[in-house]
Amino acid sequence: MEQNLLEFQSNAPISAKGYAAFGKEWKFHPYNFMRHSVGDNDVLIEILYAGICHSDLHTIKGEHGPANHPMIPGHEIAGRIVAVGSKVRKFKVGDYAGVGCMVNSCGECETCKRSEEQFCTRGQTVFTYNSKDVFHNGEISQGGYSSNIVLSEKFAFKLPKNVAIEKVAPLLCAGITTYSPIKYSKVKKGQKVAVAGLGGLGHMAAKYMVALGAEVSAFDILDKSKEAQKLGIKHFIQVDSQEFNTLSNKFDFIISTIPYQYDINAYHKMLKMYGELAIVGLPSHEDNPKLDANAMIWGFKRKIYSSLIGGVSQTQEMLDYSIKNNIYPEVEIIPIQKLEEAYKKVAAGEANFRYVIDMKSLS
Ligand SMILES: [Zn+2]
Ligand SMILES: [Zn+2]
Repeated sequence: MEQNLLEFQSNAPISAKGYAAFGKEWKFHPYNFMRHSVGDNDVLIEILYAGICHSDLHTIKGEHGPANHPMIPGHEIAGRIVAVGSKVRKFKVGDYAGVGCMVNSCGECETCKRSEEQFCTRGQTVFTYNSKDVFHNGEISQGGYSSNIVLSEKFAFKLPKNVAIEKVAPLLCAGITTYSPIKYSKVKKGQKVAVAGLGGLGHMAAKYMVALGAEVSAFDILDKSKEAQKLGIKHFIQVDSQEFNTLSNKFDFIISTIPYQYDINAYHKMLKMYGELAIVGLPSHEDNPKLDANAMIWGFKRKIYSSLIGGVSQTQEMLDYSIKNNIYPEVEIIPIQKLEEAYKKVAAGEANFRYVIDMKSLS
């Protein structure tokens, strides 16, 4: 990274390389590009590991809004600080740091002040990739399948020296996305809870709720009973099995992480009175599940709400909690050259929970 440090000192843009998708197919090619220079409040992070999130697959295809190609996805980033701006106080060179789904927001609106920056009411949330950066002349942000990233220190997270750095990256999306509603619904010991969709997000939800002492069930279209057992899940139910259709009024809390078309009303029915269903899985617009409002009215004052990642302060809280309690995702480390293969597995729901790219393979 010596070259980048020199460039930083001259306040010039930072050269970076990554793997980009040049169209809506899951095809990647090496791509050299420039990141904006390191401002007074910015940090430059050398990326060591980046997770593959299911959203990356949708975003490349333009299924979560317009896609800007060439696109470098990746919003689960763990790395090391290699340069800091003159006003940076949170980090010094050599520290470990994480980056999640956002890199900036206005900081002044009501939601930003409450540290729910993902919902910036001025519409100025800059997501980590494929997002217009109003703070840098409207450039389109590029994500973590790359050598480095420059961002405001506020949106970079502190990681201790003893962290399992190769496993930490997926906490930045899969971790916070599930941690946030589990906290919001105040899941606690002894409750009967369930995870719909036992993938990257689902297995993190299960880990958090097992740690809290809840009795966890899980649903998936594939038979993941063995994996479920290893995660401490009490009951695994395959979707469309006979048992699946007999479950009603069973759970205090269900978190749905399913990123495809599914019957959301089936899960609503499984809640007890006053039970809560949190929706965090994000299917494409076409596959958007449809809620049956009538069934809701006759359905015991159950609550359904959605949740999108989590704000900056809660993300740091989640990281501290996860690291302290040794709650890490199950990961398979891959070289970046295996991206396309990994995407196929993720799309089929066959990933061993989370692929994490070892960025050493980039050089
Ligand atoms: Zn994600
Ligand atoms: Zn704002």
